[in-house]
Amino acid sequence: MPELRKGPLLRRWVIVAPERGKRPLDFRTEDAPEIKRRGKCPFCPGNEHMTPPEIYRVPAGDWRVRVVPNKFPALSDYPALNPASQGPFLKMNGVGAHEVVIDTPDHAHDLDELPQEQVELVVETYVHRLRCLAEDGRFRYVQLFKNHGAKGGASLSHPHSQIVATPIVPPEVEARLGAARDHYERSGTCLVCTLLEEELSAGERVVEVSEKFVVLAPYDSRFPFELLIVPRFHAHDFVAMTQEERAAFAGVLRRTLARLRNLLGDVPYNFVLQTSPVPEPGKGWDWPELPSGYHWHLEILPRLTQLAGFEWGTGMYINPVPPEEAARHLRGVKQ
Ligand SMILES: [Zn+2]
Ligand SMILES: [Zn+2]
Repeated sequence: MPELRKGPLLRRWVIVAPERGKRPLDFRTEDAPEIKRRGKCPFCPGNEHMTPPEIYRVPAGDWRVRVVPNKFPALSDYPALNPASQGPFLKMNGVGAHEVVIDTPDHAHDLDELPQEQVELVVETYVHRLRCLAEDGRFRYVQLFKNHGAKGGASLSHPHSQIVATPIVPPEVEARLGAARDHYERSGTCLVCTLLEEELSAGERVVEVSEKFVVLAPYDSRFPFELLIVPRFHAHDFVAMTQEERAAFAGVLRRTLARLRNLLGDVPYNFVLQTSPVPEPGKGWDWPELPSGYHWHLEILPRLTQLAGFEWGTGMYINPVPPEEAARHLRGVKQ
């Protein structure tokens, strides 16, 4: 069973998930993980029996998007956390959920190469599953992400995204909430709304401005061509988008991934959603003004550089491409 562990040196949570089944030998190869061939792909139509029992499909019948449990979950469906400490160590059962969204029946084309209606269906599915997991009551955060390419951590090449629900608010989310809260308590305004005003007036890191979204290369980009998609309307929670906003988000996501492909080729990337944690039933959030002070955004992280000793040692990143330059290149590219 997966376990959440917190050690004393950094007070950092780690998920230990032996079910993900790596023996020492599996780590020995220098090569990228094997990406399964088409005939055996468990995500292709006709191979539905190869995945664990389906959670959701749309539409009924010949599906265009399908959601299944991850076969090797990082966290899974245990009834209780049962926290226990022993000396400096704290552990809990790995209570959570780990789902795979199969973005399309088409094995060979990623989100940016699919029709707008298909990407809208994917976004509708994200919102639906995020909402269901938030309503479960046991989870404090629901993380949506996508790993693309072997260097992005994908073990299957068929386009898919993932959703992991955790019983704690992860440290990365806590850090963002802390910064937003400090700003809100000092100024009474939303940090991201303030940042957007600055970025739009400076313009040098802006890649695209549409009616509802801005795409920009963050000032402190850790990776070459790192991007943020930020709603221009203030909203703390991704799942609260209207139908019109969801369609606009599908469009900007598709265009942004297409810009990256047209400039850099089929690069490995991760995208990760940064949204509101789930309020605790009957208690709400630790920060009651969160809906006014927090603002969701999506990070896109192309994996063109390796994290190495310096990054692991210091938690600081070395980025060889200034974000202003990345934005200039990406602005000029067709989507
Ligand atoms: Zn496939
Ligand atoms: Zn805002």
